[in-house]
Amino acid sequence: MEFIVVVLVLFVACYLIIHNRFLKQDSLKESTYKKKGPLLNTQESTFYNALRSAVGDHGIVMSKVLMSAVVTPSATDKKRWFIAQNRIAKTHFDFVVCDARTLQVRVAIELDSGVELTKGKIERQKLLIHACKSANIPLIGTSMKHTYQVGKLRRLLAAHIDLIEPEKEIRFCKRCSSPMVIKTASQGEFKGHRFFTCSRQPHCTYTENYNVVFDETT
Ligand SMILES: [Zn+2]
Repeated sequence: MEFIVVVLVLFVACYLIIHNRFLKQDSLKESTYKKKGPLLNTQESTFYNALRSAVGDHGIVMSKVLMSAVVTPSATDKKRWFIAQNRIAKTHFDFVVCDARTLQVRVAIELDSGVELTKGKIERQKLLIHACKSANIPLIGTSMKHTYQVGKLRRLLAAHIDLIEPEKEIRFCKRCSSPMVIKTASQGEFKGHRFFTCSRQPHCTYTENYNVVFDETT
């Protein structure tokens, strides 16, 4: 009997000590903060500005967007859902371009700063590519070099957001030389994506893809 009382007293004592030491310190006042530096480093903000001028009024550029704000696991099974959610919990997109009106994410952009890839960075890229592919979000990889090539950025983006001003972008059918028109795919894998099609449809069925999903020509 005495033994049980001693154990109980010890237990209560332990509880009180832990409670006072650790839990009480948890009060909000004891966590203070200091301001960090700029949201983007010099390289990133240079790219951000180039991206903004490439997009213009056609979209909204956001940076360092948490992946979990953009995609969610498609698993219905609880365990799988949590595993999938956990994978993306700490990762962010470098840049996303959203529709100016609906703020739907149209395209994700990964900036390659030219620094050699570490193991962690390779894993991150694998995750980005996989997540974007399964969620059907176009992912553009681009390097710092393009920062000074707004035109090139525009071409990369044009497949995914409405940057093309039809009167300025004139193409001719490679089969029958008729002018081509821009249409948006209403179904299939590329639903919502823009493409060029011959104006003589259905007599000529030539179409041309505007998709440049991953830029390899760096
Ligand atoms: Zn044609």
